[in-house]
Amino acid sequence: MTTSNKRDLIAAIPTGLFIGGQWVEAQSGKRCDVIDPATEDVIASIADGGAEDAERAIEVAAAVQDSWARTAPRARSEILRRAYEQMMERQDELASIITAEMGKPLAEARGEVAYAAEFFRWFSEEAVRIGGDATVSGDGRTRIIVSKAPVGPCVLVTPWNFPLAMGTRKIGPAIAAGCTMVFKPAHLTPLSSFALVEILREAGLPDGVLNVVCSSDPGSVVEPWMRSGKARKVSFTGSTAVGVRLLEQASQHIMRSSMELGGNAPFIVFDDADVDAAVDGLMIAKLRNMGEACTAANRIFVQRNVADEFARRLTERMSALVVGDGIDPATQIGPLIEPKAVEKVISLVSDAVRRGARILCGGQAPEGRGYYFPPTVLVDVDPESELMSTEIFGPVAAVIAFDDECDAIRLANDTQWGLVGYAFTQDVDRAFRLQEAIEVGMLGINTGLVSNPAAPFGGVKESGLGREGGRTGIEEFLEVRYLALPRSIPANV
Ligand code: NAP
Ligand code: MG
Repeated sequence: MTTSNKRDLIAAIPTGLFIGGQWVEAQSGKRCDVIDPATEDVIASIADGGAEDAERAIEVAAAVQDSWARTAPRARSEILRRAYEQMMERQDELASIITAEMGKPLAEARGEVAYAAEFFRWFSEEAVRIGGDATVSGDGRTRIIVSKAPVGPCVLVTPWNFPLAMGTRKIGPAIAAGCTMVFKPAHLTPLSSFALVEILREAGLPDGVLNVVCSSDPGSVVEPWMRSGKARKVSFTGSTAVGVRLLEQASQHIMRSSMELGGNAPFIVFDDADVDAAVDGLMIAKLRNMGEACTAANRIFVQRNVADEFARRLTERMSALVVGDGIDPATQIGPLIEPKAVEKVISLVSDAVRRGARILCGGQAPEGRGYYFPPTVLVDVDPESELMSTEIFGPVAAVIAFDDECDAIRLANDTQWGLVGYAFTQDVDRAFRLQEAIEVGMLGINTGLVSNPAAPFGGVKESGLGREGGRTGIEEFLEVRYLALPRSIPANV
């Protein structure tokens, strides 16, 4: 992709607010810039929404909820299927947009597009399989008929790190279930969401079903939605701190709430593991998205007798990675999202070093344009270091030695989060013990990647509420309704 191609591609994306099927300006007339983190160039200017825009959007979503809920499941399914096909058709184009706004290398961005599209395919299949139940009460006197109805207008809020996939993981099941939506993507990375809106529109999504308001002041948009009394559900992906605030707001009107929040994933390597496989797994679990993932391995626990060898092999692999602008096909590690992200990683590394950690590679941000930080390996990390209790959100691997399985489990669970964990071992019995003992919503055994549209994604403890994807994904957007019918016992003929 040349620079001028990239510019044309981005210039073709609408940049307004999308309300009631129209692209409109913010009522305040304000706009804000979108920046390419690799070059620090302004690549677009978008409408900067506020409370008045938010109010209009939720009114529209509430007004079309009934007619949308009445559409045939097959019709909703086919909209999703067509959108899935378009996304795959335009995979390269969407990937370039993600790379430009967010920084991840093009190959990873293509992967995100496929992952994002797969949620539409999955939920197009789920739309026509919304089941119910019919039973008889224990005393035989009542028929209990259970059906499912769309929960109603939904507030969707997503982060910048997977700008396309975090949206489709919510929009897919909401469409399948028959819910209307007000959606606020992250203002740092709105362009891929705007491109998605156009795809859904071409796929036949009726006006008003999906309304999108982006803002540099997110609370000014989301809070009016939460306080409106018109939205029945909130589905949020982002930090635990913002999740807590939205749960407080949700309590006012008792809104259904799904929360995909922060993580602090343990990555455990036992001495019976295939060390090469463990290094491969960590390269994914740590470096996917430059480490800017809720699923990123944050604390790496390696059994003491293999810790040095593991760190050595990891350092060889990490130090060989090519860092640069993600749009260059040779790039393996792109920039971080913003200067604040680089400052945070610098401060976590210097804290660890102050407490005795040794840097085996990386460790220092380069001079020049772009928000870069190199792949970094730290060993002899003191468990009291800040990076043990904070999401690093950067390409920094902190290796800590442990003695035995009990030690590993205790360390892994020593956090308020519980999104995902990873463990490498050849012992099947141990794998099942770990599943019972490690407090996470998802555990990868001998793999560094658990995300899969067919699986229930989500966390325990302060990592969230509810699950996205899998068979449970659509349930989050459905309300259970039960009908009681007195039962007379059929005559014995
Ligand atoms: P964040 O600050 O919580 O932002 C997430 C979203 O919330 C963005 O759209 C943001 O808008 C919006 N927001 C911020 N303040 C708000 C407020 N006061 N009221 C309403 N909305 C508000 O999270 P982030 O730092 O961008 O993203 C990284 C976090 O997301 C990490 O903690 C990561 O672990 C988590 N995450 C979790 C999952 C998961 O599935 N569990 C997946 C990906 C990321 P703006 O961005 O426009 O400011
Ligand atoms: Mg933020």
